[in-house]
Formats: sequence, C-alpha cells, structure tokens
Amino acid sequence: MTFQDLNIIPPILKAISEMGYSSPSPIQEKAIPVILGNNDLIGCAQTGTGKTAAFAIPAIQKITQSKAKIVGAPRVLVLTPTRELAVQIEENFRFYGKYVQSRQTLIFGGVSANNQIANLKKGTDIIISTPGRLLDLARQNQIKLSAIEILVLDEADTMLDMGFVNDIKKILTYLPTKRQTLFFSATMPPPIRKFATSILRDTVEINV
Ligand code: AMP
Repeated sequence: MTFQDLNIIPPILKAISEMGYSSPSPIQEKAIPVILGNNDLIGCAQTGTGKTAAFAIPAIQKITQSKAKIVGAPRVLVLTPTRELAVQIEENFRFYGKYVQSRQTLIFGGVSANNQIANLKKGTDIIISTPGRLLDLARQNQIKLSAIEILVLDEADTMLDMGFVNDIKKILTYLPTKRQTLFFSATMPPPIRKFATSILRDTVEINV
C-alpha cells in the first residue's frame, strides 16, 4: 500500500515523500479512505501511530479539492488538549500543505490573544487550538466558525479528563451541524463513547 493507492493528490504526495515516509501507517491506511469518503470517524489510536497525518492529510486534500462556501473563513478546526500538541499538529499541517498553500493558525491559552487575533485577521483555512482559548475568541466574535466543514477532536479522552467537556459542547454550538467530525481517542470508556455517539453521524470506527 502506498499513499498514491489512497488517492492522495500529487502536491500532497510530494510533501509526504519529502518527509521520507515510504508507506502509510495502519491508522493512515484505514482512516484516510473513510475521511475522504465523508464519513464521521472514531479512531482509537495512541500518539506515535501516525494519527496526526491520518487526519491532516485528508483534511488538507478535501479543502483543496472543494470550493469554500464562505470565502476567507476557516474550514477545518482541530481541538487538542495542550499547547505542545497544538504546536506539533500545526507543524504537521504546515508540512503536508506546503504545496497547496493551505494556511493554518495556532491558538492556545496562557499567552496574550493579540497576536493570535492578528494572525486570524490575515485569513486562515485551518485552526489548531486548545478548547478554552478558542471558546473565548468565539464568544468575543474574533473567530468565525460558521464555515467549519471538518472538526477534529484529538486526544478526546484527555480533553474530557482535563475538564474541557463543557467548553467543547459550547464550541459545537458555533459550528454548522452539517459537518464531518473526526474523533480520536487513545481509550474509549463508556462516558467517552457516549459523548462521541452524541456528536457523530454515519460513523466508521477504527482501532489500531
Ligand atoms: P503521531 O502519532 O501523529 O504523533 O506521529 C508519530 C510520528 O510518526 C511522527 O514523528 C511522524 O512524523 C511519524 N509518521 C507519521 N506517519 C508516518 C509514516 N507513514 N511513515 C513513517 N513515519 C510516520
């Protein structure tokens, strides 16, 4: 199996080959066709399995291949529990999207929001954020979430353990109900599964 077999478009294939990856990891092999096929996804996977590329590559490809419904507004939102993870995910999107010129913006709490707001004003396609700061910016009308087509919840179990459930529920109220939701979690105890089921539709579940 190659990335070409997964129908990845040439400008993204070029970036992947520069990363030195010879073949997709198991989660990528399973998740990429589901995401390109427009299903919602539950992905049970640990860090280190290549899960970031498993959502970043198809998300970039989808927004590259389809026209924005609202020009200038972000189309992909990735929520992740910590600043460190947000930084890593942003780097992944930047690498894989370098030849399609997709734009990504990093948002996290604990620092002044001014630079983040200035970055958003320049225009962005993809937001990578921790939940609390994103909700603050949405409430202050500094961020437009009505054109989000793909929502990724990364390390959902950790986000819920950290007490982000109410922030996430409030963020959902700013998003279109017609969207694709990708739910990644290392563990799937009953409360997490219940939460996932309440926000997902036409779901395919993948375990690696
Ligand atoms: P992640 O699980 O997303 O944190 O990724 C773990 C590590 O695997 C990262 O350092 C990636 O650069 C690397 N990686 C992701 N996909 C592949 C692949 N298909 N082949 C080799 N390494 C990969």
